[in-house]
Amino acid sequence: MKTNQKRFFLSEKEIPTQWYNIQAEMPNKPMPPLHPATREALKAEDLYGVFCKECSRQELDQQHPWIDIPEPVRNLYRTYRSTPLVRAYGLERALDTPAHIYFKNESVSPVGSHKLNSALAQAYYCKQEGVTNITTETGAGQWGTAVAYAAQVFGLEAAVYQVKISYEQKPYRRSIMQLYGAQVIPSPSMSTRAGKDILTNDPNNQGSLGTAISEAIELARETPNCKYVLGSVLNHVALHQTVIGLEAEKQMEMAGEYPDVVIGCFGGGSNFGGIAFPFMRHNLSDGKQTRFVAAEPASCPKLTHGKFCYDFGDVAGYTPLLPMYSLGHDFMPANIHAGGLRYHGAGVIVSQLLKDGLMEAVDIRQLESFSAGILFAKAEGIVPAPESCHAIAAVIREAERCKLAGAQKVILFNLSGHGLIDMTAYDNYLAGNLRDYEYTE
Ligand SMILES: *Cc1c(COP(=O)(O)O)cnc(C)c1O
Repeated sequence: MKTNQKRFFLSEKEIPTQWYNIQAEMPNKPMPPLHPATREALKAEDLYGVFCKECSRQELDQQHPWIDIPEPVRNLYRTYRSTPLVRAYGLERALDTPAHIYFKNESVSPVGSHKLNSALAQAYYCKQEGVTNITTETGAGQWGTAVAYAAQVFGLEAAVYQVKISYEQKPYRRSIMQLYGAQVIPSPSMSTRAGKDILTNDPNNQGSLGTAISEAIELARETPNCKYVLGSVLNHVALHQTVIGLEAEKQMEMAGEYPDVVIGCFGGGSNFGGIAFPFMRHNLSDGKQTRFVAAEPASCPKLTHGKFCYDFGDVAGYTPLLPMYSLGHDFMPANIHAGGLRYHGAGVIVSQLLKDGLMEAVDIRQLESFSAGILFAKAEGIVPAPESCHAIAAVIREAERCKLAGAQKVILFNLSGHGLIDMTAYDNYLAGNLRDYEYTE
């Protein structure tokens, strides 16, 4: 049944009770992570030193397609879920496209992005297992804010290494983390061996997610009762984010439509996987032919220009070797404002899916992304996060192709976060001070 409805909501009862684990249903399962020294395949137990046990098990679970959402986590989801599915009539009009455009608005979470969906789950499992301290890295600060809040609700202490360039460009995210009670350290820092090594060689190093991860892992390893939590890239993070796509599936049904194209911006793959995997399930099992498009920055293009290989997740080489599309673990991304997309590698699941031709990727330049974000803000009223602007740019490209072809396709994208704390970036764009960065190998 077609309606003119603008927003679609689920009742609290209809919030999913399980996450979808696509690993169990992939035609080619991801290859295992390898021990950095011995190169032997790792088992869940091998990850316990750094991650909590439940997340370690979920990381390598290739058996169970459905995993229960613990009731305390689902209860906290109720503070902001279901998030609205919105028909972007305004954007459709602005583009004069026959396409029907929908977005899932994850910016309504208390911390302003999708990141809380996994932070709550990870903090809960840590608490259950008797952990007292958690540590992590953050780029733009969205993940750090989510961790700071989740730690606080579950009574854990949080230490967050924030990439130095973001620490300086986005002081309000630091304030929010501190307000929730977290300790925030700009990275690279002198508080770890990994940070010291970098600063000794390059005192002006602006940091990267890869470096901040090394610092947080080092702290987790050397502190009793402290675990590391990661906001992207890993399989269990994408698993927790599938609550987005599972809700969207029901909401699209309420709208009487099914997506021809599903789009998400891409840093390590968690919000993309979160919206895409539940729909991809129908491609894998019931013959649907939806296209899935990951939108990454042209200056950090691991999916479109990276190599599929075993590589480290961090600069110092502390993490296991992961089979992924990567630009190299020592790649230093340009200082674009989409801090959450400045990462050298792609999640293992997405990497395998891309290799198998089950999804696509596009790279978007910084100026195109901001121009798309501003068009969206004018049409729909919401100022998108600089990361989300990449998805919007990819949506606009699709919608313009629909216009040329006169095709009434249904496009669904994930609005991963709002940009109200990223106004320095918009100021710079409006003043003409932003530029594009070429990727060179
Ligand atoms: C972290 C973040 C991203 C990028 O991370 P993914 O794991 O690729 O989703 C994108 N958008 C927002 C708003 C973020 O906070």
